[in-house]
Amino acid sequence: MRIVLLGAPGSGKGTQAQRLVERAGIPQISTGDLLRAAVARGTELGRQAREAMDGGRLVEDSLVLGMIRERLGEPDTRRGFILDGFPRNLAQAHALERLLEALQQPLDAVVQFDVEPRELVRRISGRRSCADCGRVFNMLTSPPASSESCPRTGAPHRLMQRPDDNEATVAERLRVYDEKTRPLIDFYRARGLLRVIDAAGDVDEVTRRLARALGAPLRALRGAKRRAHKGAGARPTHHKPTRKRAARQSPGKIARRKRAVARKGRAVGRGKARRATPAGRGRLKGRPR
Ligand code: AMP
Repeated sequence: MRIVLLGAPGSGKGTQAQRLVERAGIPQISTGDLLRAAVARGTELGRQAREAMDGGRLVEDSLVLGMIRERLGEPDTRRGFILDGFPRNLAQAHALERLLEALQQPLDAVVQFDVEPRELVRRISGRRSCADCGRVFNMLTSPPASSESCPRTGAPHRLMQRPDDNEATVAERLRVYDEKTRPLIDFYRARGLLRVIDAAGDVDEVTRRLARALGAPLRALRGAKRRAHKGAGARPTHHKPTRKRAARQSPGKIARRKRAVARKGRAVGRGKARRATPAGRGRLKGRPR
């Protein structure tokens, strides 16, 4: 399943993308996260991106596209991916379309997260992320449970506020969204890929709306994930025995099956023994094996 999550800053794309990763087993590709990691590592890309990020503006297309091209070439994206925060303008959307065409991996859906602007500002003010594992929380809508610890350190999450989640930068990011990113709604609607969900309210409810919007592709992926899990020797799924299955496993039926398997085993044994001797091979000549 290859999808794009489209929505203004604070609309909950990142939170829902993380939940989808767990359910569907495909990677989240967040250009914001990749750029923040580049800034933190002090790479050349990070150095070039930093100023635009601090000001709430978009980073240059060539930098973001290079990063995306490289990421989509990695093997974990073969079963699909969740793009979060990319594309952000029409030039990026066209470039993505060309790239996926070349890879013969077209998008399955684009989900737009619909939230009122006032709610967006409220949510951004409550947003925190763990400095160690990167998981995103919202102190107003989805705070970490008191018993929860960071999977990296084993200690409680170290919650930090993003530097660009301050009032002035947020206002600019919302303006940039309206001007550059909102036109993508019509772009994807024209291609028949757009699904809109109400992303206000309870986080679990939004997860259910997103699952409904993704429908069949998500169900297929989750089925494949379960099958892969079983094949890898994980704990088998225990089904509640239905009446039909119980009948199939009646003592009489089990005994008949055991006898059939034993007969087959003896026959195979006999065949092997015959083929193992020159006389046996002579007797078997001309008979289909
Ligand atoms: P986000 O975490 O998605 O809110 O992104 C944080 C910042 O990273 C944005 O305000 C932009 O400065 C930059 N950024 C993230 N994704 C893109 C993109 N696709 N194109 C340009 N800039 C981006």
